[in-house]
Amino acid sequence: MGDVKLEHVSKHYDDVTAVDDMNLDINDGEFICLVGPSGCGKSTTMEMIAGLTIPSEGKVFIGDREVTNLPPKDRGVAMVFQNIALFPHMDVYDNISFGLRLRNYDKEEIDRRVNRAADVVQLEGMLDRMPDEMSGGQRQRVAIARAIVRNPGVFLMDEPLANLDAKLRVHMRTELQRLHKELDTTIIYVTHDQAEAMTMSDRIAVIDSGQLQQIDPPLVCYNEPANLFVAGFIGSPSMNFLDGTVTENGFESTNIDIEFDPADVGIEAGREVTMGIRPEDVYLIEDKNLVANPSHEIDAMTDVLEPMGDEIFVYLKLEEGAGASLDEDAIAMNDQLLMSVAPDTDVEEDKDVTVVLDRSKVHLFDTETGKAISHGIESTVQASGPTGTEAESDD
Ligand code: ADP
Repeated sequence: MGDVKLEHVSKHYDDVTAVDDMNLDINDGEFICLVGPSGCGKSTTMEMIAGLTIPSEGKVFIGDREVTNLPPKDRGVAMVFQNIALFPHMDVYDNISFGLRLRNYDKEEIDRRVNRAADVVQLEGMLDRMPDEMSGGQRQRVAIARAIVRNPGVFLMDEPLANLDAKLRVHMRTELQRLHKELDTTIIYVTHDQAEAMTMSDRIAVIDSGQLQQIDPPLVCYNEPANLFVAGFIGSPSMNFLDGTVTENGFESTNIDIEFDPADVGIEAGREVTMGIRPEDVYLIEDKNLVANPSHEIDAMTDVLEPMGDEIFVYLKLEEGAGASLDEDAIAMNDQLLMSVAPDTDVEEDKDVTVVLDRSKVHLFDTETGKAISHGIESTVQASGPTGTEAESDD
């Protein structure tokens, strides 16, 4: 049915490798987001599933059929793109039914499908409107209805909300989730917006430079990122990173030391590591009691404050030498930490403060390979992704 599988799929354009040895296993009925920065190969991956682009290497399967070289119309997929492209001279009914009329479906069947699709996307009563009489969100719903009437096994959506304003985008996110529930069909959705991916997907496939970095449920990508790229890409604002070294006493860097027994997290002393901590896992010392397992105290000075309404972002300058000094080069990138605090917190710019980190939320990555070593250093927690990429695995 709607299972989609990519087996060692690559796409090369002259000297550009748009997609590099991609393996994906998408289950029937799953909502999967392909997410990553612009140019990472999301659209090319989608186009190879759609049949708009033929892979240079590898195989594509939809259901139990290999479709690598089949044209789009024979794949049982329907596509919705960023540019809606409705026929301006046709009303909504004719726009939605266009493909069915082209395929000579009988009138009753067309009527039945159009009405059902209009019902699903809540366009009842608007079937005789012309596209220029509709809002951007309504036009996008027409485009989705046009895909629905084809009864596809798989929906492919490439940034379908990118041209809508922010409020409508948030609204359409909910609509798409409802649509997914109602149709119970596989949806593969391309976006560069990690918030969109976090809120809608069953699993997120994070892509960078044409390579799959991790495919896991949103919260697993958030809490147990497989590598530095995923850790930095998922979450807003981004995770803080500080480079340092593992010693017999734990993590040591220019400005922050965190004590632990390296054996407890399965690493050996001497290893160069990057410590990661999310802004919401950094606490002012007076809130230390909110943290089950705080780090030792870290002296800092508040720099810029960004009140967001529901929280305040506090940029901290770390006091030099608070940790064991490493080398001079490391100081520049290691002297800042972003902290997020509650909106009613009494905090001002340019003041000395003391903060602690929630040790259970401290991530360690191998600085050279970027791979996760551990998530949380309070106990013998080893990094692992329950359904997807295992940290430290060789693939
Ligand atoms: P994304 O959708 O993540 O923004 P794309 O899949 O569109 O990324 O592109 C991935 C890479 O492949 C980019 O470097 C892009 O310039 C290149 N690329 C995509 N399509 C073509 C093409 N038809 N010819 C040459 N290069 C292409």
